[in-house]
Amino acid sequence: MIPFRLLILAILCYIGWRILRRFVLSKPTETVLDDTGQGPDPELQDVLVEDPVCHTLIPRNQAIRLRKNDTTYYFCSDECCDQFSEHYEKGAQ
Ligand SMILES: [Zn+2]
Repeated sequence: MIPFRLLILAILCYIGWRILRRFVLSKPTETVLDDTGQGPDPELQDVLVEDPVCHTLIPRNQAIRLRKNDTTYYFCSDECCDQFSEHYEKGAQ
């Protein structure tokens, strides 16, 4: 019964391919979420974020962004950003 075996093999291949395809397609689309839990919706961009250095609240769309280890930090100025970077680098070692 060679043709029957081939049919089974073909079905298994098909199922395997379907599962693989579903697995690949179901990969979650990457959305940028921050600690406020809001996505990249333009209407939600203008939320206040806290500068971790001087603790000033700044509108997120005007803040200076720094990405470290999948976390985005927001700063009121380059000085704060640099200060944080230095501090972070020291702390990481
Ligand atoms: Zn600052």
